[in-house]
Amino acid sequence: MQLNVRSIGHFIGGEEIAPHGETQAVWNPARGEQQAEVALGGAAEAAAAVESAQRAFDAWAARAPQQRASVLFRFRELMHANLDRLAALVSGEHGKTRDDARAEVLRGLDVVDFACGIPQLLKGEFSAGVGREIDAYALRQPLGVCVGITPFNFPAMVPMWMFPVALACGNTFVLKPSERDPSLGIEMARLLRDAGLPPGAFNVVNGGVAAVDALIAHRQVAAVSFVGSTPIARRVFAAASERGKRVQALGGAKNHLVVMPDADMDATVEALVGAAYGSAGERCMAISVAVAVGDATADDLVARIARRVATLVVDAGDVPGVEMGPLVTREHRDRVAAYVGLGCAEGAQLVVDGRSHAATQREGFFLGPTLFDRVTASMRIYREEIFGPVLCVVRVPSLDAALKLIDAHEFGNGASIFTRDGAHARYFERNVSAGMVGINVPIPVPMAFHSFGGWKASLFGDHHVHGPEGVRFYTRLKSVTARWSESADRQGFSMPTSG
Ligand code: NAD
Repeated sequence: MQLNVRSIGHFIGGEEIAPHGETQAVWNPARGEQQAEVALGGAAEAAAAVESAQRAFDAWAARAPQQRASVLFRFRELMHANLDRLAALVSGEHGKTRDDARAEVLRGLDVVDFACGIPQLLKGEFSAGVGREIDAYALRQPLGVCVGITPFNFPAMVPMWMFPVALACGNTFVLKPSERDPSLGIEMARLLRDAGLPPGAFNVVNGGVAAVDALIAHRQVAAVSFVGSTPIARRVFAAASERGKRVQALGGAKNHLVVMPDADMDATVEALVGAAYGSAGERCMAISVAVAVGDATADDLVARIARRVATLVVDAGDVPGVEMGPLVTREHRDRVAAYVGLGCAEGAQLVVDGRSHAATQREGFFLGPTLFDRVTASMRIYREEIFGPVLCVVRVPSLDAALKLIDAHEFGNGASIFTRDGAHARYFERNVSAGMVGINVPIPVPMAFHSFGGWKASLFGDHHVHGPEGVRFYTRLKSVTARWSESADRQGFSMPTSG
């Protein structure tokens, strides 16, 4: 262990557990130096957390929905009271700007707002008098212990896509945050405790693969929610479903934004630059491909983006006026920079080279915004998720060609169109192969009371997260047929029919 470095442990059964055994460095990406160490838990911590969640389950599930909601109301107030401190922690570990970190926490809190409405959301279906003295109705009941495994790019928001809805429905929860920016997991556990959540109802196990494997394998885990890259999502989906657990596994993305010749170019370029380079491109809904319809559109678009990118302020996340921060780790920055070299080797036209940006001279993990033109569908920089500030422009002759391109891509998270033509927008919305669609909106992240999820290799499982889909995922349906008779009649032996 290094001196002057914070230690981040686990949170199990309402207690903070100091790290023991293996740890991993947590970096300050803007300075390029270690700022903390995080525990790498394994089978023992996973078992302790799941068993503590199992012990807490019956009493928590038995509380009235409005009592569970009142804990979430208090948690919401505490999160708001700590907003600036939490945003600074997110920005300091991830690298994104303070404003962006604040927005992330607030978007997560939207899900808490939604979950506070659980008494309304759990109201079941009821059919009176479906037979003589017979009523039929359906209940939605909690599953038990639910596990959430989350990525580095939204250390506050993505966990909040999951646990507020899971807890509101009456489940207990074990969170396994990203080991690259783990502080928010423990911070949220403390605030849930302070809000009155009973010990064991929410636990945090820090770590990597060993912790994930042990959580998925534990027989008392009923459901697994995963968000991360596609190879790991596929692996988690297979391992959890093979063990009979309910699972939703959200994977990677390559989001396209189609620019039609009639688009408002000023608005399109501003939206595109924010969506491609905001959070250094480390968003699952970042736009990494601009599809320009027609060469004239492409020429205009590329020239305008290059001009705008030249003025983009790249600096540490807490510097006033900063628009883009560093990447999360040195390894990730080097991986993204290697893709820039690959794009050149593949024959794409490098218009802006982020590798020579002035910010790369600093100590932190910086890479400047990068722009490629004349990218084709066979290139790896088009096919693979780069997850950095690299925007590829692909030229196509028509809207149908754009739709065909998007349809053929492995991923199907989000897709957007910028146009002034309603018929084109509607045609795009109906025919595009993506789970989330934007019309003159670059990053169409659904509001908390709708549900978030992609298609194809961007999501394995049947349910999207939060919103109504989240309530369905974290509950199971029970259908009841009940006869309460005032007469002494015996029930018949034949099946009741509607005829
Ligand atoms: P990642 O897949 O490396 O890690 C995600 C989680 O899985 C982490 O908690 C990590 O500890 C764990 N993990 C890593 N390797 C594992 C393994 N071999 N077995 C089991 N667990 C393992 O993802 P990341 O780099 O943290 O996050 C970026 C990725 O997440 C990108 O691909 C991005 O598109 C994706 N993402 C998707 C969405 C979405 O909604 N679809 C949202 C956010 C991020």
